[in-house]
Amino acid sequence: MEQLIRGIHHVTAIAADTTKNLEFYAGILGLRLVKQTVNFDAPEVYHLYYGDEAGQPGTILTFFPYGGLRNGRHGKGMLNTTAFSLPSASVGYWTERLKRFNVPFKPPAERFGEETVIYFEDADGLGLELVFSDKDQRKGWSYGPVPQEHAIRGFYNVEIWEEGYERTAGLLTEQLDHRLIAERSNRFRFAAADSPGNYIDLVCAPDSLKGLAGSGTVHHLAFRTPDKDTQLQVRERIVKRMLNPTPVLDRNYFTSIYFREPGGVLFEVATDVPGFAADEPADRLGESLQLPSWFEKDRAELEKKLGPLAYNMEHYK
Ligand code: ZN
Repeated sequence: MEQLIRGIHHVTAIAADTTKNLEFYAGILGLRLVKQTVNFDAPEVYHLYYGDEAGQPGTILTFFPYGGLRNGRHGKGMLNTTAFSLPSASVGYWTERLKRFNVPFKPPAERFGEETVIYFEDADGLGLELVFSDKDQRKGWSYGPVPQEHAIRGFYNVEIWEEGYERTAGLLTEQLDHRLIAERSNRFRFAAADSPGNYIDLVCAPDSLKGLAGSGTVHHLAFRTPDKDTQLQVRERIVKRMLNPTPVLDRNYFTSIYFREPGGVLFEVATDVPGFAADEPADRLGESLQLPSWFEKDRAELEKKLGPLAYNMEHYK
């Protein structure tokens, strides 16, 4: 069977405050803001995309900042932790950096015998990790506030809590081209490509409360597929599994289908093309508000409602 799914495309989460979100991800974590646009389903809300220099799949964390939204709750049926990939030599740099910006973090822990993991949360309580290993060949952003040798390479893995892992594992392995590559106690790691940026950890957490949507929680996880043709083939597989996928939707930088996995997490399959340079030059990504053609007529009104994005990058160097 042809491999239609090649790994993780992006993770989308919910935030409560636009400026705090920008300061945390572009400032403290030093990710590149690769796109400022709006929520295509609610255009009075920003949609901010952070990633590596080119905004490649496997590096993209996006947010809908809903002003003043109440906090959600981590729990089962939810993607609770999004982990970033770093070289093992950067542990000292990052513990110092988190301390400098008063971000509380748990002491470094070992995972699968080859990863050092530090857990922390953003201002809304979104679960994050820094994973330090020597497995990642990708480069960090060279012009960000963090020196390139210590810059985030993209995702390492995501962690989903489930009542039981079997039905989600079945979907991953049978329809989404993943295989089980590691397991330890209640953690089962799947991947469509065995490289950092593509690991899906299913954690059995039957005794946890059910996750509740709100700020500080993940809205959905998107997998990557090369193009519209492979996307339609994946869609057929999802239809056959009776998971009722949406029609193909145009997200300007990719096309998408969505469906809910058996444990309750919203999954998306997004195309690699056309990518984030579709509507602005690659060296100016994220510098100005981009709207899909169908919202251009409302630009003046939307800009007024959204308010400008502002933060002082110098403060984070
Ligand atoms: Zn998405």
